[in-house]
Amino acid sequence: MNFDELETLPISRNEFSELELFKNVQFEKLAGFLLRCSVQNFEKGHKLIDPDKPNRSVYIVINGALEAILESENGGTFTKEITKGHCVGEMSVFDNVKPSATIAAKEPSKILVIPADTMLSMLSASHELCLNLLQILSQRLRHDNKIVCEEQYHIRCIEENAKIDPMTGLHNRRWLEDMYTREMNRSNKGNFKLTAFMIDIDHFKRVNDTYGHLAGDQVLISVAQTLIRSLRPSDMPVRYGGEEFSVFLPGTTTKNAKVIAERIRRNMENMSISLPDGTILQVTVSIGFAERIDNDTVASLIDRADKALYHAKQNGRNRVCQNLGNGKFVRV
Ligand code: GH3
Ligand code: MG
Ligand code: MG
Repeated sequence: MNFDELETLPISRNEFSELELFKNVQFEKLAGFLLRCSVQNFEKGHKLIDPDKPNRSVYIVINGALEAILESENGGTFTKEITKGHCVGEMSVFDNVKPSATIAAKEPSKILVIPADTMLSMLSASHELCLNLLQILSQRLRHDNKIVCEEQYHIRCIEENAKIDPMTGLHNRRWLEDMYTREMNRSNKGNFKLTAFMIDIDHFKRVNDTYGHLAGDQVLISVAQTLIRSLRPSDMPVRYGGEEFSVFLPGTTTKNAKVIAERIRRNMENMSISLPDGTILQVTVSIGFAERIDNDTVASLIDRADKALYHAKQNGRNRVCQNLGNGKFVRV
């Protein structure tokens, strides 16, 4: 290449050596191809790549910055800045698939535009260029994988939080629907023991009426803590709603269920709740329980436990009642 031709190249040797894609690439090796490229100045907002149109160029930022705007199917938008030295468009040049993102100038930008066929010729001519491109694509893949993982973790956290009652920290009804159903199916299939408790605070309305709603909330938190403390890690307590709690106890015999229910009742009775003004409160709970029978559903088992709870309330509260079936109940 003679001096005159060098003069007409779109970028200088210095600019060339600063570009990531041309790292360690001999300027002379590609100078001839650069004659087929152009440098263009784009105003802020100018669209270089449009997902609706095929892209047949690679763009390298010499000065300024571009922005990649990716729109997901659920309406979310993800943007990424492409700064000096970095390139865009190479993927759609290779796979001939329509681009996945919109690329626009984030500010007035000077861009080296390499036509697709020239890019492919350059790659044939320079091993170093191939390596650089592979490295750029690998980094991009790694970066995007990281974003996908973080995004999935974030979604999992949101889903998990939606299943937790923020006041007591116990799981809520949404969790119950999933997990109790799973446990019920497992127990039905394997003919495993399964017991359900329904627990309701006695005269809780009085607490609210006498000490206020905040004191009521404090009681709910304390009751939840005592419930957790009284159970085993495999038990499944849930804030069923208001001042009612449910527990599924997988693999629990009636004999053990009685012991556990009675322990919960007693721990609640012995619990002292201190309010900020120094008042000490005490509450009791009533508990109804029932065992799984063949072809039970979550709703039918909970319903039988709830009937036992009603029986406990009717017969004086602060007690545990078991539903024996056939309309029979027994106090534990
Ligand atoms: P029983 O012994 O028959 O169960 O009587 P009870 O007063 O406990 O039952 P009732 O159903 O009459 O009242 C329940 C009360 O629980 C009424 C409602 O305002 C209160 N409650 C429900 N959720 C909350 C809550 O999140 N915080 C507070 N402070 N109170 C709640
Ligand atoms: Mg109550
Ligand atoms: Mg109630």
